[in-house]
Amino acid sequence: MALARRRFDCLILGAGGAGLNAALRLSNADLRVAVVSKVFPTRSHTVAAQGGVNAALANVLPDSWHWHMFDTVKGSDYLGDQDAIEFMCREAIPTVYELEHDGVPFSRLDNGKIYQRAFGGQSQNFGGAQAARTCAAADRTGHAILHTLFQQNIRAKTHFFDEFFAVDLIRDDEGAILGALVLEIETGEPVLIEAKTTLIATGGCGQIFRTTSNAHINTGDGMAMALRAGVPLEDMEFFQFHPTGVAGKGMLITEGCRGEGGFLVNGAGERFMERYAPNAKDLASRDVVSRAIATEVREGRGAGPDKDYVLLKLSHLGADIIGKRLPGIRETCKTFLHIDPVDTPIPVFPTAHYVMGGIPTDRFGRVVAPSGTGAEEVVPGLYAAGECACVSVHGANRLGGNSLLDILVFGRAAGQDIIQFLKEHPHHRPMNEASVDQAVARLDRWDRKGDGPRVKDLRAELTKVMEDHCGVYRVEDVMAEGVERVRAIRARIGEARLTDHSRTFNTARIEALELDNLADVALATIASALHRQESRGAHSRVDYPDRDDRNWLKHTLYQLDGDRVDYKPVRTKPLTVESFPPKERVY
Ligand SMILES: Cc1cc2nc3c(=O)[nH]c(=O)nc-3n(C[C@H](O)[C@H](O)[C@H](O)COP(=O)(O)OP(=O)(O)OC[C@H]3O[C@@H](n4cnc5c(N)ncnc54)[C@H](O)[C@@H]3O)c2cc1C
Repeated sequence: MALARRRFDCLILGAGGAGLNAALRLSNADLRVAVVSKVFPTRSHTVAAQGGVNAALANVLPDSWHWHMFDTVKGSDYLGDQDAIEFMCREAIPTVYELEHDGVPFSRLDNGKIYQRAFGGQSQNFGGAQAARTCAAADRTGHAILHTLFQQNIRAKTHFFDEFFAVDLIRDDEGAILGALVLEIETGEPVLIEAKTTLIATGGCGQIFRTTSNAHINTGDGMAMALRAGVPLEDMEFFQFHPTGVAGKGMLITEGCRGEGGFLVNGAGERFMERYAPNAKDLASRDVVSRAIATEVREGRGAGPDKDYVLLKLSHLGADIIGKRLPGIRETCKTFLHIDPVDTPIPVFPTAHYVMGGIPTDRFGRVVAPSGTGAEEVVPGLYAAGECACVSVHGANRLGGNSLLDILVFGRAAGQDIIQFLKEHPHHRPMNEASVDQAVARLDRWDRKGDGPRVKDLRAELTKVMEDHCGVYRVEDVMAEGVERVRAIRARIGEARLTDHSRTFNTARIEALELDNLADVALATIASALHRQESRGAHSRVDYPDRDDRNWLKHTLYQLDGDRVDYKPVRTKPLTVESFPPKERVY
């Protein structure tokens, strides 16, 4: 049967905050926009964001975008690119007002202004007293933002392909991207979407780890597609473990709990963060708090029968504050733990949460990759934004509240740049049928039963290897063994058996495609981690405990082709202000 084909000005893969904010700008500019999402748009992971989005509005305490910039550079352990960070922190303020005008129901102060809470790593005056910079809609900020953006897109007549799975990018011989092959999940029919520009906004890859706060769908598909199209992934070794996941389960307990005044205690009831971060205490940066919890447990000071977690205390806040500011957290605790945080502390342990690395882009959302000569070049027609991209604003460690900001600011920036690009490039490039055939073949590979290991068993094995070999603390020989084990699992995927034997259930085929993607992204992560011989931000090496600016103030670039790791310099020059040189990072 002939392959169904559709044509659009712009194809957006992903309907989270990044994809939808870009789509809105494009549809409002009267362009033909297709948004493809493997789940219904409002089920994208952005919906789960709890705590809020950062902007120096100064509604609660004094603030400035420049202080926000300092905190972000320091939080990144000086690996973030300072031009992009300045851009993001300045743009934060109009971005939040734009959301407010689009209809996001933010929580309010008594004077009617947007409510802002304290979050980790925030300071006034370049490292002074705690700031309150995180704009929140109770503890359901992502839900409020995603639903508002979706409704605005419906009004703007964005074309949605709901429950379509993107399989692979299509490209021509010059490396330009021409669209993507997608699969309608309900019918199993492939569709070729031809586009003048393609934006990857497929979110994160927390599912490479066994215990994670991420949704089941966060399998790094877009990153793996970029790798297969010859684009390297940047800084994949920097994976954030959020300090407060529900112990043993991984669901997130927002940092907003500590922002509202909650604190951590160990098995002996001690507020141990005072020892690790004397000033910021429980609101130190996430990498610092996660390491502190892992250390308390490792040294035998954990709580519970097996001493394998610590406790987050909220009871002193009272039922009123918890009910008003943290209602979702109370529900999560009741549903999954059968406890009420109003009177019982919550058992918590670090959970895999956020990928700082991703598809390398500039601050306009354009994908930049090394060319044949080694110089960086824009990949024609290809953009990336959101968690799958690496601008890089988060460097080695992301601050809470800066990801919702990142997806909105750079989703919007990509949309604006695409509008300009299309003015200069109004026509479709000729389709490359060889590349289409290749993508279809990838799909057809799974049109059979197979008799090897089950897809779901291989996925479980992969995520366990990543957890055991590439967790909060890392060491050379353990990671080297992990790399070999991930490679071995990856080699066995070819003969894997679909979990569901029936050809009619495309979900089985999609699980197999996702496993392929997970394995590529997992290998990128652990191989990049093995090569970086220093500790910086979330990448914490027991055998190299110090940060090494002389040798390692550089970004990693991992190439699938040849399993190769290269490096590129950090952009330390901001746009208009002086740069913040690396300093010792204490909280
Ligand atoms: C539990 C939780 C709480 C968080 N809380 C906060 C917070 O309070 N503040 C903050 O700043 N950050 C927070 N974060 C981080 C932040 O929410 C995410 O980084 C951000 O929402 C990611 O947005 P995105 O648009 O990049 O991707 P997502 O929202 O993850 O969307 C990805 C989209 O891509 C689609 N997709 C993926 N693969 C395919 C494919 N193969 N084919 C078709 N479609 C595909 C999906 O269907 C989805 O529509 C939180 C994260 C989690 C997990």
